[in-house]
Amino acid sequence: MKYIWAPWRIEYIRSKKPAGCILCALPAEDKDKGNYILFRGKKNFIMMNSYPYNPGHLLVAPYRHTSDLEELTAAERNEHFELVSRCIRVLKETFKPGGFNIGANIGKVAGAGIEDHFHSHIVPRWLGDTNFVTVLPDIRVVPQALAETYDTLKDKF
Ligand SMILES: [Zn+2]
Repeated sequence: MKYIWAPWRIEYIRSKKPAGCILCALPAEDKDKGNYILFRGKKNFIMMNSYPYNPGHLLVAPYRHTSDLEELTAAERNEHFELVSRCIRVLKETFKPGGFNIGANIGKVAGAGIEDHFHSHIVPRWLGDTNFVTVLPDIRVVPQALAETYDTLKDKF
């Protein structure tokens, strides 16, 4: 297993987390662009991760607050994975990654940052995205600006 070196995530790790659940709070607001919400389905939504492991790192979450995949209804779960699949298609078309990591961290011990609200991660991968920084330690991996990525992706969903 190779880990992505993503130093900008330290800001997230150090930041004070807002009270309450952001996966409930952000879709309840009426500012999808500011919140990087790319698409709203009937039961789930697609959002960019503000502290991405890679440019184009997306999240899919149900609107309903539950930590458990098995608690989702069939309709919620079907749409959830339909949207995961749509994320892959859009990212393939737009950024031509070499591959993807898709997954969910369920429970704190599994690395969940938002452990109370189930969500899936879609992380596009490019050959060498983990490695060259260790060879050339002065180069910082700077993700494509989030707002720019948002504008690139928004109309494709
Ligand atoms: Zn929630």
